[in-house]
Amino acid sequence: LENKFTENKGESQDEYKSGKVAVNDQEPGNQNQLNLAIVGHVDSGKSTLSGRLLHLLGRISKKEMHKNEKEAKEKGKGSFTYAWALDESNEERERGITMTVGIAYFNSKKYHVVLLDSPGHKDFVPNMISGATQADAAVLVVDASMGSFEAGMNGNGFGQTKEHAQLIRSFGVEQLIVAINKMDLVDYKKERFDSIKVQLGSFLRSCGFKESCITWIPISAMGNQNLVTAPSDAYLSSWYQGSCLLNAIDLLQPPLRDVSKPLRLPICDVTKLHTLGFIAVSGKVEAGVVKNGSQVLLMPSGEIATIRSIERNSSPCNAASAGDNVGISLHGVDQIHLIPGGVLCHPDYPVSVSRRLELKILVLDIKMPIIIGSQVELHIHHAKEAARVVKIISELDQKTGKVSKGAPRVLKSKQSAIVEVNLERPVCVEEFSRCKALGRAFLRSAGNTIAVGIVTRVFPLYI
Ligand code: GDP
Repeated sequence: LENKFTENKGESQDEYKSGKVAVNDQEPGNQNQLNLAIVGHVDSGKSTLSGRLLHLLGRISKKEMHKNEKEAKEKGKGSFTYAWALDESNEERERGITMTVGIAYFNSKKYHVVLLDSPGHKDFVPNMISGATQADAAVLVVDASMGSFEAGMNGNGFGQTKEHAQLIRSFGVEQLIVAINKMDLVDYKKERFDSIKVQLGSFLRSCGFKESCITWIPISAMGNQNLVTAPSDAYLSSWYQGSCLLNAIDLLQPPLRDVSKPLRLPICDVTKLHTLGFIAVSGKVEAGVVKNGSQVLLMPSGEIATIRSIERNSSPCNAASAGDNVGISLHGVDQIHLIPGGVLCHPDYPVSVSRRLELKILVLDIKMPIIIGSQVELHIHHAKEAARVVKIISELDQKTGKVSKGAPRVLKSKQSAIVEVNLERPVCVEEFSRCKALGRAFLRSAGNTIAVGIVTRVFPLYI
């Protein structure tokens, strides 16, 4: 068992190293999923845009869309996901299957697009970040109206247009669609579009976005211009012949799914089906494949169990692969070995288990600074563990991500840093660069998220 903890065999296996393959090999009707974060300054029109897209693509009725817009206004732009909880999602939630941040989705020609919720309010930055860490690509919504674009770039000292762009880039999102919204308020002028493109473009390049990975689209979410069809506004279509938003989404590169890597299925929920006497777990397959009748290793306990049945999207299936939300029933194992936060793995390739991690974090708005010795609660996939900050290694420059200062004594709001934490008990974890889902972490204290980050180093358990 000790070996299973310390040795991460997957790391040394060439067959898995090459690993990443695009999911074009999924079963028919199971379109490639694209997790799309909608980010941007508060009031730029994210909720309106998401609502319009869902409505135009037949996911919600006009009544629901208006209800949401009204609610968003009343609540001061509350999270749209709750207002738009679709029936399927409720069902999924009742069954305890892992939900991504967003629960609103639509199908484009090529993708099953899941919209990740990311309201622009300051308080919602943690949501925005959990969306960003799951995103395959992002739509950055900017408000073209005079003064508003400028506020997004500079307002309150640090406009959220910039903040969100930096965050999504720092979490590895490379493909970006910039939706320049509210073009109706600037009479669809090309000059305004071009000037925003120049100003924002140089900033985005400085954050590390490649010009070739950015698509610029003038839209009016409210006026339904350039969303799912070419613009009907004669003036806009006289100078803009590029893709509408939906087509631009289809032109994004398919996300890489770790289908050929060893199985990683973090357990979200465990249910014992008393009448039938077996145990079921639910969660999302983050890497690899899982097959009926095969054996799986339960970490961190190290027990072996056999897959009795698999359910995906409410129907039984023989196998599921990376990206699928599944319910799985197991036999040959006692329930005490199954805990939320545990991970089902390929028997030969256990996930690493560690109680000491190096993290790259971004500190959120906090009242008490983080110091060496700070007690926090570490959240990593479905695991939650008491932790202590034992080292602040360096402070990072917000924009470039490079080390800007050696070990500072304290960390305050908005600072980025590399830290080391010790955990009370071991957790299943991987470096973010190896497996995003098992390598993003949140630090919480007294009920608030105080920092978010990614795992940059996993220390072996027994040293
Ligand atoms: P969010 O905070 O980014 O989610 O922004 P909302 O979607 O709530 O929109 C903020 C305000 O801008 C609302 O009053 C919307 O009705 C308005 N709005 C959104 N899109 C457009 C647009 O294309 N044109 C105009 N004129 N107003 C818009």
